[in-house]
Amino acid sequence: MAESILKVKGIKKYFSTPKGMLHAVDGVDFEMEKGETLGLVGESGCGKSTIGRVILRLLEPTEGEIYFEDKNISQLNKKEMIKLRRDMQIIFQDPFSSLNPRLSVSEIIAEPLIIHNIVKKKNSELEKEVLRLMDLVGLAKRLVNAYPHELDGGRRQRIGIARALALRPKFIVADEPVSALDVSIQAQILNLLQDLQEELGLTYLFITHDLSVVKHISDNIAVMYLGKLVEKAPADELFRNSLHPYTQALLSAIPVPSIKSKRERIILKGEITSPIDPKPGCRFAARCNYAMDRCFKEDPELTEVGNNHLVACFLVEEKANN
Ligand code: SF4
Repeated sequence: MAESILKVKGIKKYFSTPKGMLHAVDGVDFEMEKGETLGLVGESGCGKSTIGRVILRLLEPTEGEIYFEDKNISQLNKKEMIKLRRDMQIIFQDPFSSLNPRLSVSEIIAEPLIIHNIVKKKNSELEKEVLRLMDLVGLAKRLVNAYPHELDGGRRQRIGIARALALRPKFIVADEPVSALDVSIQAQILNLLQDLQEELGLTYLFITHDLSVVKHISDNIAVMYLGKLVEKAPADELFRNSLHPYTQALLSAIPVPSIKSKRERIILKGEITSPIDPKPGCRFAARCNYAMDRCFKEDPELTEVGNNHLVACFLVEEKANN
């Protein structure tokens, strides 16, 4: 049986604003197995990056619990968190702004090894480890003294990946890791992430606004809308049989390669509900073509409908009951 690595239970993250309480994440539950890639998809501002940061405790949850390898990490102190940081790492979207421009490639990759006292500064072992990491992510040895501004986006993201791997983590939050890259480079970085996963047994929470990016690399996909998960399923199942009207709209926006298999684009109309002190009701109701009275009064629960497929929608619930 596959081993569980992460459990997220009832996570909420609210931010206080002059207009009221912003519900960035509003009661999210999911579980991940070792070696799995979970694609977390949604529009910008839906709370997906906030979840990633809450899991890594870069942000404190307002409510809820996070279990990593069966240990509750929601209440760990600073010292315990430093230890855990070795196991849980992040790859950022924009490699340029996440890398210190004043440090060379070798200094950037060596930094976590020195901070965590894994290798002593100015030691031949450190140099050897930096070169090993560069080789692992496909960075040529000759770039060891280069600076981030001298490199293209793909190479900069490879530095970010090498840095994330330096502490030999088990779990990585990849937050839009290819969004800032050209399409041809995106494929190279996605392939690299997959190869590394196989070689090192990594588990990825892969956050993206683009469903097509996670199609081939995810085992499971979770779709998020305004702070809530609205659908979660194995990747193939989600692409073959999406049930939530929001997922269907996201899928319809993916260009299809063949003229024969034309897909009609679902254009979402209506205003996006404010995440500040939201009223009860489905968060998607104002934009949903199928909204019923009930949708504006009650919150649909994420419910399993078979094949490990979960969906939060009254329409699906009513169809199943008829
Ligand atoms: Fe649309 Fe209602 Fe389903 Fe929400 S619960 S997605 S409003 S049909």
